[in-house]
Amino acid sequence: MNDYYAILGVAKGASPEEVKLAYRKASRNHHPDIVGHTPQAEEEFKRINAAYEVLSDPKKREMYDLGVDPLAPGGGQGGAQGAGPFGFSGSFAGFGDIFEAMFSAAAGGAAGQSGPLTRASRGRDQLERLTVELDEAVFGGVHEVSYSTHLTCASCQGSCCAPGTAPTRCSACQGRGVRERLVRSLLGTVRTMDPCRQCQGFGTIIASPCPECSGQGRVRGQAAVEVNVPAGVDTGNRLRMVGKGEVGPAGGPAADLYIEFRVKRHPDFIRDGDNLLATLPIPMTAAALGAAIVIETLDGPREVDVKPGSQPGTVITLEGLGAGRLNQRTRGDLRVELDVQVPTGLDDSQRELLRRLALERHEERPEARFASTGGVFSRLKDKLTGK
Ligand SMILES: [Zn+2]
Ligand SMILES: [Zn+2]
Repeated sequence: MNDYYAILGVAKGASPEEVKLAYRKASRNHHPDIVGHTPQAEEEFKRINAAYEVLSDPKKREMYDLGVDPLAPGGGQGGAQGAGPFGFSGSFAGFGDIFEAMFSAAAGGAAGQSGPLTRASRGRDQLERLTVELDEAVFGGVHEVSYSTHLTCASCQGSCCAPGTAPTRCSACQGRGVRERLVRSLLGTVRTMDPCRQCQGFGTIIASPCPECSGQGRVRGQAAVEVNVPAGVDTGNRLRMVGKGEVGPAGGPAADLYIEFRVKRHPDFIRDGDNLLATLPIPMTAAALGAAIVIETLDGPREVDVKPGSQPGTVITLEGLGAGRLNQRTRGDLRVELDVQVPTGLDDSQRELLRRLALERHEERPEARFASTGGVFSRLKDKLTGK
């Protein structure tokens, strides 16, 4: 391919004025009327004119810059260089351009925008955390959540324009939002569209942006929403509230708000999946004699039936008084573990009572014999030996 820039003696980025000046100078210096009508002079003069024809015409120059000689026979395909097997020569545009051209021809993506862009776009989803009490998590409830987000600008209603003004058509692209470009590719010369630089591809220009939102169509502000806490919710569960997220720029649709729950620790109950666990300290005498103990559950007061002779670690199950799970009707159980308290700080008469009890039960000198079952250590032993 002819190097038109070298022929005129200008740099690749030369301005139209520089091209014109260089052409004037070259044509004066090489005019056959001046240097004589030799075949070489005629040829050189032709080359100078060809160079000027291409470089002085923005469309032809753009095509040439992309590796296509607009003056070559066959619309520039291959040119004088000798085309390769796919019809392109060594001076072919980079691979990026090929893919860009093919992609835009196929998909009309960003590189191949076909019309003006719209300023409005959807906002981004947002996440807010909500801490609830355990009983709210079990039974469900209603909570107001206040959060910071993007709201539609009240002054311009999302139009981005100062009151009483409207966007004007971009003069650079006549409102089309795009600029045409020719790229050579495997498919031949492909016309691609680039966003117009003057209007950023929108086709319109906002001359006086809304001062309230700096032309964004939205402002930062506080919003509040009523959240229905679903029964059975657990820490980490998320609730999607459609359209309660931030509004998009330029009056774009609102995104979704996600509420992520955190269930507060309860002073008495530990949540274990569907179940609730609690530890109930009882006096040694109650464990030995048995007792009915009233405890406060999430469902109100309930009686725990401690059987006579209950051992430490005994678990009493109160069915259906547990936590439950999302989208599940039944609830788990409340499991109460007995923590038998050995009396301390005995006075003389209490000590005497216990001594008499020990005497009666022949326990005044307890037998030294290790137990094979029961107790924390034997449970640990079972675990270690895999029983
Ligand atoms: Zn505004
Ligand atoms: Zn434009």
